[in-house]
Amino acid sequence: MTTELNDFSVLIADDDAIAQRLMESVLGSIGIGSVALAEDGAVALACHDSMPGGVDFVLLDIDMPGMDGLEFLRHLSHRPVRPAIILIGSGDKAVLFGAREMALAHKFRVVGEISKPIEPVGLKTLLANIFAAYSPHTERRGTARGALGEAELRDGIAAGALQPYYQPQIRLDDGGVRGVEALARWRRADGGLIFPDQFIALAEKTGLIDPLTDAILDGALKQESLWRAEGLALQLSINLSIPSLARFDLPDRVMELAATYGLEPGGITLEITESWLIWDVAAALETLTRFRLKGFGLSIDDYGSGFSSMRRLKTIPFTELKLDRAFVNGAHRDAQVRAMLESSVDLAKKLELLLVAEGVEEEEDWKLLRDLGVDLAQGNYFTKPLPGAEVLPWAAKRRRGVAVSG
Ligand code: C2E
Ligand code: CA
Ligand code: CA
Repeated sequence: MTTELNDFSVLIADDDAIAQRLMESVLGSIGIGSVALAEDGAVALACHDSMPGGVDFVLLDIDMPGMDGLEFLRHLSHRPVRPAIILIGSGDKAVLFGAREMALAHKFRVVGEISKPIEPVGLKTLLANIFAAYSPHTERRGTARGALGEAELRDGIAAGALQPYYQPQIRLDDGGVRGVEALARWRRADGGLIFPDQFIALAEKTGLIDPLTDAILDGALKQESLWRAEGLALQLSINLSIPSLARFDLPDRVMELAATYGLEPGGITLEITESWLIWDVAAALETLTRFRLKGFGLSIDDYGSGFSSMRRLKTIPFTELKLDRAFVNGAHRDAQVRAMLESSVDLAKKLELLLVAEGVEEEEDWKLLRDLGVDLAQGNYFTKPLPGAEVLPWAAKRRRGVAVSG
């Protein structure tokens, strides 16, 4: 692992020299090759811009004098190459949540959060976990080649380079694999793997989201039929972008595709993110209700992160509620996070929705979710998303493990 992490470049943007030095030495100790330091957002931006291909990760203090972390993110969002972000907040959890929401709204990949005061031992575990979840070779090569353009994305989709990976969803009562969430990955010709934060926003802006969604749907439904042929029926979850809900014929198309691969709509769940702010409610309701009418599952994704109201939850015929990882991660040690988790569990139960927790990274959180009666969980604690061909071997290995430990 050490030699692989060596490929990463990380930028620490923090005005606190002691915290800076601590993070720098921890990053060095887990094997990160290149660490740059900045004391405010302006210096951080200049540093990012000065590196060919930009930095891969930014550890970003939200509160800095001069250009703060929020403004830094706003400027960075216009840069062609975007690092993944680890947010650093002090004390007030609400500020950290707000900053995370803002970063996600700009479609950054927020891979972790650190609360000050920083505790050295915890920091090492936290950072080691975050970086261990990435496949450095591929990711670095994927993103370091510069900005992705519209033409490149169009060609990539046409060439079949956009394919789903699959993250298993685990039943918390018996530890079995219930299904998978399909997550788009772009495999470049050089073998590099590019993540959705580099192309979903671009696709939404350029109208390429339609062919992209179709490619993912086709890839995932076909894969599902292959798994079934090998004896494992997995519930399949697919992400839809809000602009796709204006495609009134999408439910029919997915229905036809399901029929082509011999699948029932009940085995397919569409996930729609909770960021409702700017969409055509009437259009979305039509498409979503049509999905339900045809028997598909409907999941409200990133629940708790956005602006959903009780009324919305009731208006749209959801079958599943997917808890944002902000309410999952660290819930066992943080009373505020836990309170929000518990109230979401309560709500889901009252509305009789299937409850899925995402972003599970630690055993203690997984146990808490189980004790609270959450139905399903996914996260790096179980596995990061896998290529289609690796899912069945992984599930078989897991079954053996569960059988042994249970
Ligand atoms: P999402 O739907 O919320 O998907 C969950 C994200 O969390 C995935 O990121 C997944 O790899 C990541 N993840 C899984 N386990 C953990 C964990 O334990 N810790 C942490 N920190 N993260 C974890 P990914 O694959 O990079 O996708 C990012 C987002 O891009 C997705 O968020 C989704 O909104 C969007 N996306 C992905 N594929 C598609 C697609 O086919 N169509 C559309 N419209 N959007 C997609
Ligand atoms: Ca999702
Ligand atoms: Ca989500």
